[in-house]
Amino acid sequence: MHFGTTDGSNTSPNVRVGNRSMSLDDLYRDRARCARILASARAEDGHAWCECNCPQSKLVIRCRQGVWHLARWPGDRIGHAANCPFRGIDPGLTGRAAFSESAIQESRDGVHLRIATSLTTDLGTRSKPGLGDHHRGGGSNRHRLTLLGLLEYLWEESRLNEYRSGSRLWWGRCHHALVSQVENSFLGDQPLSEVMYVVPPFRKESAANNEATWNAFAAGLGSKNRRSRLGIVLGEFKDAAATSRGYRIRLRNFRKPIFVTRKLWDTLTMRFQSAFTSQMTAQGRQVGLWVVDKATRGYLRLSTAGIMATTQSWIPVDSGYELTMANALADANRSFLKPLRYQHCDVVLPDFVITDTNPRTYIEVWGIVGRESYERRKQEKQDYYKQRGLQLIEWNVSESIPEVPRLLSCRVSSRLSTEDAVTSSSGQFVAGLSSSDSHGNEQFPQATPAL
Ligand SMILES: [Zn+2]
Repeated sequence: MHFGTTDGSNTSPNVRVGNRSMSLDDLYRDRARCARILASARAEDGHAWCECNCPQSKLVIRCRQGVWHLARWPGDRIGHAANCPFRGIDPGLTGRAAFSESAIQESRDGVHLRIATSLTTDLGTRSKPGLGDHHRGGGSNRHRLTLLGLLEYLWEESRLNEYRSGSRLWWGRCHHALVSQVENSFLGDQPLSEVMYVVPPFRKESAANNEATWNAFAAGLGSKNRRSRLGIVLGEFKDAAATSRGYRIRLRNFRKPIFVTRKLWDTLTMRFQSAFTSQMTAQGRQVGLWVVDKATRGYLRLSTAGIMATTQSWIPVDSGYELTMANALADANRSFLKPLRYQHCDVVLPDFVITDTNPRTYIEVWGIVGRESYERRKQEKQDYYKQRGLQLIEWNVSESIPEVPRLLSCRVSSRLSTEDAVTSSSGQFVAGLSSSDSHGNEQFPQATPAL
């Protein structure tokens, strides 16, 4: 489910439910009334319609944990208007296309995902579930997501890889969007919410409730019948302190420390080294899926993890140069998108796409100098942009960063507090530039070698 939008960046489309037509916001305003309307429409028609576009798109009517809502019809990713919250990301701007249906399968009851990490350990064999998780590109496994791939999937479906000028994100908004995705996803046939805990933002008034939710989740972890059940914690890395045997990791807003052996932590920080550079730890964030096991004495042990670097605004980045570019774009008041490759190196994607120009503007950060295969691929990509007349901003990192034209006119001002930004209904551009339906579906040349 994607409620779209409470940050004001998407419009609330009109939806048709039974014989009524109303805005999505109106439908959701009164939850009890919403439940009555949707339950009756599901019984009579089986589905609803989104009126954002012509022809209209079908919507799934779903009830999850007592909450009724509408969701995108399976497979209908681009039938909706560009600013409709039900629209998925364009296929040319995501690594998702590299995966088969067995990895990500949309159905009317939700999205069924498969991952390469086992969440049970057979205590008889002491197999280590996490260490085989890593596969880097090469099309080596199109049928299962890595942990980082799963994290990127959740991020992308929550549209957290899109920066909207003027709307400042905070963890509460990320949490809300991520929980919505988790609640509508399955690992195989098991609800993802049974194995994944998304760390909530800290608020004094909800601390006791959050603690109870965690305790209920944690009660399902640990050993039973010679098997140990693992859980996934989605949260932001805070710090790691050395202990006699390894490290004690802390996540932001999460009181339980997670213990990790030195060997595993060294492996993970090497595997995700671009997230742990000094620039990234000082200026960015590290968000992870932390697979944890509960030891007999109750403390949490890290089994493996998938870790993603982001800007302070939660936009994923692959390098320090990309962090610099993403910050420059945000400083210039631009709306942009970071295509995610789902840890598949073979997928060729632009580094960023500015979405407030029509047509959109692509950004390439050329971060490697002098490697022949990289230079060749760079030339192919440059030719591709040129032949199609696409707008491109390039940064050769051996030179200073190019100036990003500033977008001047925007109704959302910096006076909005972070909480206001979450609930504001404004946020659309008033400049002559807009994101519109005329966005093309670019398909980047997917030849190898990858960048
Ligand atoms: Zn729509």
